[in-house]
Amino acid sequence: MGGRAKNVLITGASGGIGRAMAAAFAEKSYGVAMVCHSHPERARDLAEKTGAAVFSCDVSREEEVERLFAAAEEAFGFIDVLVNNAGISWRGLFTDMSLAEWERVFAVNTRGVFLCTRRALPPMIRRKRGCIINVSSMWGQQGASCEAAYSASKAAVIGLTQALAQEEGPSGIRVNCICPGVIDTPMNGILSPADITALAQDTPLGRIGTPEEVAHAALFLAENEFVTGQALGINGGFLLR
Ligand code: NAD
Repeated sequence: MGGRAKNVLITGASGGIGRAMAAAFAEKSYGVAMVCHSHPERARDLAEKTGAAVFSCDVSREEEVERLFAAAEEAFGFIDVLVNNAGISWRGLFTDMSLAEWERVFAVNTRGVFLCTRRALPPMIRRKRGCIINVSSMWGQQGASCEAAYSASKAAVIGLTQALAQEEGPSGIRVNCICPGVIDTPMNGILSPADITALAQDTPLGRIGTPEEVAHAALFLAENEFVTGQALGINGGFLLR
């Protein structure tokens, strides 16, 4: 794996968007570390086809994140691009949400980003190069009804992105985030076909997005050396910022 130009570590790589990102980066000859929490079998077929490596990690657990990076650095040497893509949603009335449910959403969506980024940065700072891509959401740009914890956790990711872009820019490290709109992945499996149709109708481009379109944005952010601190909307015009 050492002969490749750049290496990327993608969390949540067994999911819809993470898997598409792994395929897109592999296509561009990146060394790809696919990090899975559940269903590693969903990553293995792609890994076999592309030469990606599969790792297991719950990003909300500090000791697992440490083990993950130690193993990934042993396999790849240096992680050039970290994509903090793992995330969970919780839909329902705010007043029905338990503290444990609130904390789980933040543990994955916010603490997980903190833990992986804090572990990835020191080697990047030493080498004076690196790129962090966080996957937020358009609901992090504008809070959504019945998604209070999700919206708050994804807004935190945008704040963290902007703060780190300023703090790490002088070290040659870029930090950006992607704010997808409604994308066709298992995360939206709880929406009914009627809900999806309504969301598509509310989108100026008249449809929901594909994981590949989000993956394309991640590649752009990884490759463009003059973009940092941005929250890039991939939402068909649903939210205009
Ligand atoms: P998905 O459910 O298919 O994938 C989510 C991935 O995160 C899965 O691989 C899951 O195993 C992983 N994950 C969950 N908890 C984890 C943990 N504790 N540790 C490590 N991994 C964990 O959903 P997706 O749509 O592919 O979501 C990817 C990202 O995109 C998420 O951060 C999500 O919030 C964001 N997003 C999705 C949409 C959408 O419409 N699908 C819109 C905006 C943002």
